[in-house]
Amino acid sequence: MVKITFKGASQEVGRSAFLIDTGDKILLDYGVKLTPNGTQYPLPVKVNLNAAIISHAHLDHTGNLPHLFQETNCLVYMTPPTLGIAKILWFDTLKIAGLEGMDAKFAKDEIAKTEKFTFPVPYGKNMDITDSTSMVFHDAGHIVGSALTELRLKAGRKSLVYTGDFRYVETRLHNPAQFEKIKGCDYLITESTYGDREHPDRKETEKKFVEAVQETIEGGGHALLPSFAVGRCQELIDVLNEYDLSAPIYFDGMGQQVARVYLANPSYLKNPKFLKKALDKVKWVKGPKERAKALREPSVIVCTSGMMQGGSVYAYLPQVYKDRASRIMLTGYQVADTPGRRLLETGRITIDGVDVEVKAKFERYDFSAHAGKEELFRAMKLLNPEKVICVHGDADTTKKFAEGIKGEGFTPIVPELGKTVEL
Ligand SMILES: [Zn+2]
Ligand SMILES: [Zn+2]
Repeated sequence: MVKITFKGASQEVGRSAFLIDTGDKILLDYGVKLTPNGTQYPLPVKVNLNAAIISHAHLDHTGNLPHLFQETNCLVYMTPPTLGIAKILWFDTLKIAGLEGMDAKFAKDEIAKTEKFTFPVPYGKNMDITDSTSMVFHDAGHIVGSALTELRLKAGRKSLVYTGDFRYVETRLHNPAQFEKIKGCDYLITESTYGDREHPDRKETEKKFVEAVQETIEGGGHALLPSFAVGRCQELIDVLNEYDLSAPIYFDGMGQQVARVYLANPSYLKNPKFLKKALDKVKWVKGPKERAKALREPSVIVCTSGMMQGGSVYAYLPQVYKDRASRIMLTGYQVADTPGRRLLETGRITIDGVDVEVKAKFERYDFSAHAGKEELFRAMKLLNPEKVICVHGDADTTKKFAEGIKGEGFTPIVPELGKTVEL
């Protein structure tokens, strides 16, 4: 018998954490939920774990893992780039907590311990992770090192697939998720983020995006691109490199560290040479001098953070916000009450505690790294599972997604936080 206890990401996006119990206890992901009002944590795991598995580096999947290692001594499995990026994000969590005078849930010692207990596993390698369970990762096409997890549960000869976050179409940096490599799937735990809607055509979006950048440069302004440090910064630089822009591209913020992990793991990318060329060509901002230079000429500035909740974008905003020739271009989902969302809805931002009206143009482009509805259904039909457990979507979307699943003749489960489901 297989039981799953839902420790997070149940009718919400954030704090992914699922405890699988087959006799052996295996934890899938242990993330946090970052909200404008503070961090929400997954429910505590009070059992002795036999193993933990991490799907990818994003904080909503890894953010509380070092805290778990205050008491846990089990092995944790993830791909090598996932560990590389998760470490950057964990140290950044400590830095932000320090700046805000808050206590983080873990310290450097726990990060070191987590790393010590991590067993890096590449895609396609079969691993026995307990006496009765084996595991294999496949590329999930979401960010570098992101994995679909295929678990073979020897008891009852069942198999369970956990998608983590995925894309099932080709994107700039990644091939589509490798669902074709999965051998069997009785139970599917799938993300549901866009379970009720589609993304606009990717190529069209790229085209509109680059045209807007070009127009801004020709008008003598700055195209300011506050972006997610993991994946998006690197992807935008890759996109821009395809076009002969007449202005320099500056690259500022934590995306630089992440880019180094991308470059160190070429086998996890679709076209690593193209990305390397693109990253070699941009100007890596190291300090105030380069920032000032970026603001003295028409320029493209790729910076952080993706929802404008802090980050290097604030080094440029005091000048850019009042410049009608410039353009602030958001490329990710904007959570309610974040500065990015507020900018889109009201045209106002707060700089150094002062609320101002933005004179520069501002707009959002959908560069999502999550599967749209069609991709989610295509993956599900290919795997043909007995039961589909819908996680990582807000309540309304998850319910609509589940209805759609039923309509296709499958059996969906919409879990509640803290509840246990027997499969
Ligand atoms: Zn993710
Ligand atoms: Zn996620």
